[in-house]
Amino acid sequence: MTYGGAHAMAAVWRALGVDAEVIPPSDEETLALGARHTSGDECLPQKITLGELLKIARRPDYSPERTAIFFATTTGPCRFGQYVPLFRQAFRQEGLGELQVLAPGSDDAYQSVGRQFPDLPRLGWWAVVGADLLQKALHRIRPYERTAGDSDRVYQEGLEAFCRAIERGAPSRRRHRSALVECLSATARRFARIPVREASHPLIGVVGEIFCRLHAFSNQELIRRLERAGGEAWLSDVSEWIWYCNEWEAREVGLRGRRISFAMLGVRLRDWVQRRDEHALRHPFSDLLQGREEPDSPGELLEYARPYLPPEGAMGEMVLSVGKAVHLRAHGAHGVIDISPFTCMNGIVSEALYPRLSRDLGGLPIKNFYFDGKPAPLDRDLEIFLELARGYRARAEGVGQ
Ligand code: SF4
Repeated sequence: MTYGGAHAMAAVWRALGVDAEVIPPSDEETLALGARHTSGDECLPQKITLGELLKIARRPDYSPERTAIFFATTTGPCRFGQYVPLFRQAFRQEGLGELQVLAPGSDDAYQSVGRQFPDLPRLGWWAVVGADLLQKALHRIRPYERTAGDSDRVYQEGLEAFCRAIERGAPSRRRHRSALVECLSATARRFARIPVREASHPLIGVVGEIFCRLHAFSNQELIRRLERAGGEAWLSDVSEWIWYCNEWEAREVGLRGRRISFAMLGVRLRDWVQRRDEHALRHPFSDLLQGREEPDSPGELLEYARPYLPPEGAMGEMVLSVGKAVHLRAHGAHGVIDISPFTCMNGIVSEALYPRLSRDLGGLPIKNFYFDGKPAPLDRDLEIFLELARGYRARAEGVGQ
């Protein structure tokens, strides 16, 4: 989840009558608590998420009977499937009782949660899409704002209004969605009115492991640092992952010989409804985000990735990162940054493929940034990377020829 996505999802829970709140921002205590149960072999997101949960459990009002965490998970070869067992073990060892976890998996694109909370999948999708859009608008405008802080303020206020609109609900789903569209339209208009400088920064696509690239504490505020160094970021969003899960689920259903079945019909129908919702919510931002369009379908990204990583033979962010790099270049990016935790399987595989991909894209600068919770010389590396991106842009635009 992004910062905004987590807040919007908490609003969804509250709309469903659950007393929900977002885990407070990460800090040094998070890392210290996480380190008590990790050896250094684990991925950074595991250490951070565990540290967050232990921090919550230290609150005087914490009650294991009245607290549950909502934590989307997955199965498969990646270490992500081991997070929840480790959390439970750490809670037992700390004498904190049984940790209650509501953990929908990616196998059915997180739809299992709908069995207990039928309205959650649709409302959750609106929350994800709306939060993604607000964040995209922020990244589109902030590098050019004349007065520092304008974009952050509009973003924060827009997000709060969006969360209130989610929580308020409406007599019907159609009216609820319309209220959200109205709310996003007001924020899009506010973004468009922010005074900006006439400039065109190098456009840098940001891909990589989903937690680390979206969690500003984990990536040491890479996006803000990139902007300060003179770049504009185009960050891969959460919706992309949901589209990918839908696509994967459809492939799995097909492989089980149920290409023509109610199961497949259900997947396709859901995909269609989600796409319609996304179009409606995105509409207010169509001018502001012109030129930053996402692929029409996840299949498009997978086909971009195919020459490097056949999507049937590999699963996870590695496929999306590689495919997205091609899409980003086709839409004007001058460089691509891959954010991953240290030793992340996805980051390692992508990194091995990037030299060939870069050659095929005319020398597009692509760089991996790995994070392990320790301070890194990020600003210097970003400056150098942006120089490469400026050079690439000059060559691509034929400057000096
Ligand atoms: S995607 Fe990478 S960081 Fe995340 S659990 Fe898997 S290996 Fe770890």
